Amino acid sequence: MTASRKKTSPPSVAESANDPAAAQAVGNTTEHIVVAVTRAIVEHRLLPGAKLVEQKLADRFGVSRTIVRQALFRLSQLKLVRLEQARGAFVAEPSIEEAREVFAVRRMVEGQMVRQLIAQIKPADLKLLKAHLKAERDAVARIDVATRTKLLFDFHVCMAQALGNQVLVDLIQELVSRCSLITLMYQSADDAEASNAEHVDILKAIEARDADLAADLIDRHLLTVERQLTERRRVPTLRIEDALLD
Ligand SMILES: [Zn+2]
Repeated sequence: MTASRKKTSPPSVAESANDPAAAQAVGNTTEHIVVAVTRAIVEHRLLPGAKLVEQKLADRFGVSRTIVRQALFRLSQLKLVRLEQARGAFVAEPSIEEAREVFAVRRMVEGQMVRQLIAQIKPADLKLLKAHLKAERDAVARIDVATRTKLLFDFHVCMAQALGNQVLVDLIQELVSRCSLITLMYQSADDAEASNAEHVDILKAIEARDADLAADLIDRHLLTVERQLTERRRVPTLRIEDALLD
């Protein structure tokens, strides 16, 4: 069991507790580190299993170790970093087996989810889902890998939200998060574009109230994404030492 599964809290930032402006600055800096590390993972400059040394990150970003710890905690929530007690932080290591198991569970759950959604979806939910797909398409077009990955995941979470079942929302969120590192590293721009197009087709089937078609489309979509992530992996070639040197 890793420390990331234990109940942990983000480090407190005592120095900014009574100063909203300072708290905002700390939040921005934390976010900046989260974005920089995520980008390094996307660009294969930071490899699975790499140790993230607090002091080196603090020096690199010119911040305190407290702020670095906050960023690492946030990255662990995003499943991009694994925190181990007394050993420190490491870039998570995507496992093909885990990805396969995650997609198997998602196919069991999401086909039924979409049928239930068709039975009870409201016009306002359809509108929200359409707006989401528009944002998705924009991020795909910009080749903004971190945003498009999040939005492509979130479409599935949004469907669970439209059902109003918080247990299902949490479950889907947990399942998609478990594949976030593997997706950031291995989903190509073409894969992302295809996923967005498949989401559009799924939503059309939902709008047409065609439960069999929608369930079939989501099943095929999940199979396709699973294949993209588990069968076409590129081997990273960059050295860990060069990861954060941009
Ligand atoms: Zn999808």
